[in-house]
Amino acid sequence: SGARVRRAHNKRLPQYLERGVDVKFSDVAGLGKIRLELEEIVKFFTHGEMYRRRGVKIPGGILLCGPPGVGKTLLAKAVAGEAGVNFFSISASQFVEIYVGVGASRVRSLYQEARENAPSVVFIDELDAVGRERGLIKGSGGQERDATLNQLLVSLDGFEGRGEVITIASTNRPDILDPALVRPGRFDRKIYIPKPGLIGRMEILKVHARKKPMAEDVDYMAVASMTDGMVGAELANIIEVAAINMMRDGRTEITTDDLLQAAQIEERGMLDRKDRSTETWKQVAINEAAMAVAAVNFPDLRNIEFVTISPRAGRELGYVRLKMDHLKFREGMLSRQSLLDHITVQLAPRAADELWYGEGQLSTIWAETADNARSAARTYVLGGLSEKHYGVSDFWVADRINEIDLEALRILNMCYDRAKEILNENRKLMDAIVDQLVNKKSLTKQEFTNLVELHGSIKPMPPSI
Ligand code: ADP
Repeated sequence: SGARVRRAHNKRLPQYLERGVDVKFSDVAGLGKIRLELEEIVKFFTHGEMYRRRGVKIPGGILLCGPPGVGKTLLAKAVAGEAGVNFFSISASQFVEIYVGVGASRVRSLYQEARENAPSVVFIDELDAVGRERGLIKGSGGQERDATLNQLLVSLDGFEGRGEVITIASTNRPDILDPALVRPGRFDRKIYIPKPGLIGRMEILKVHARKKPMAEDVDYMAVASMTDGMVGAELANIIEVAAINMMRDGRTEITTDDLLQAAQIEERGMLDRKDRSTETWKQVAINEAAMAVAAVNFPDLRNIEFVTISPRAGRELGYVRLKMDHLKFREGMLSRQSLLDHITVQLAPRAADELWYGEGQLSTIWAETADNARSAARTYVLGGLSEKHYGVSDFWVADRINEIDLEALRILNMCYDRAKEILNENRKLMDAIVDQLVNKKSLTKQEFTNLVELHGSIKPMPPSI
């Protein structure tokens, strides 16, 4: 792979060397500006002399911080790959041994090998396993770990500023590391790798799709938008599962549908790792089912991508994805009737809570959607769409505010009654969706449509005003 490997004088085979590491930055997607920081690390190798001449200190160690699966290991390999240097790796959990002295001696041989084969990157995975603040673990296990940590500190100091062996370590818990580890000259540079955002997820999917027979019209954005909260490792897995799906069907190209299905499977796996009581699942399911059932009644809201109750990053509850609605709504293209329909859909969870749990036991599960309804109702009134006209300028007049709110309240009540009516007429459909959601956590568009056809009593709603 073009590695500038200096021949070891010692013929012993290096144990910790990973051969054939051929990762490049182009294999790691969705990094944004972090990439610049990593490119600089590559320069420590390729332009080390220049840094030294200018008196710039080269860090002894770099800490990649972030949750599992975001690509920390991949990045460390890419640094070695781009610089064309050897890659040595060990997982710190391997240091933690029952036998006294084993951990420390492993650290010693690791660094000895790295030095003999310099320039090289030493990668220590899960540094926190060994790097926890000393004295926190009692007993002989603690002593052993302290000896290992001490050896690591000594080894790091041995290379300080020379730029021939650079240590990269990964951790999800930089906060619990022993302060001695993060002192200048040791792991004095921290780089945070967050979970990828929407665009990042799309880029990661594309990188992994490069080596697969993808259909030309694959909608990566659709997959990215339904994988909120997932990391690179999970996204890579989606591509693999989709490929298996294609093979099983005897097809030759991976389609968007393959990817969406694989995403659901991946997500279910993710869900199994979270725990919620059945009662909570059911309540969230009722909340989501209500929105979906209300939405299919309305032309602009009917296009439902999927229904899910999976917990995702930053959003505790699930949601119904109304594709068309979102686009039109953002672009301000909703008609007067559509805006009312939108309000009805947003109030459906509140209505369902009343119908299924009764007034006495209302929860706040629908707080967010009720809020959406409230603000849409004000938009409706202030936009001059209601019978009684108010201009935006009225908003500033104190005695008008009350009138505006009353008119908005009237709209909300009317839509709320519609929502209740729809749900009452579709109890069978609601039960079927809730049942499946509790079991499977997500319904595809097709699965949802099938249930609607089977149990639904959907009639085009007459305009309400
Ligand atoms: P970490 O070390 O943060 O736990 P890894 O680097 O081991 O994560 O990631 C596991 C796999 O997930 C990688 O080998 C790669 O296939 C995929 N992956 C993770 N993050 C990315 C990314 N940003 N771009 C491309 N692939 C990624």
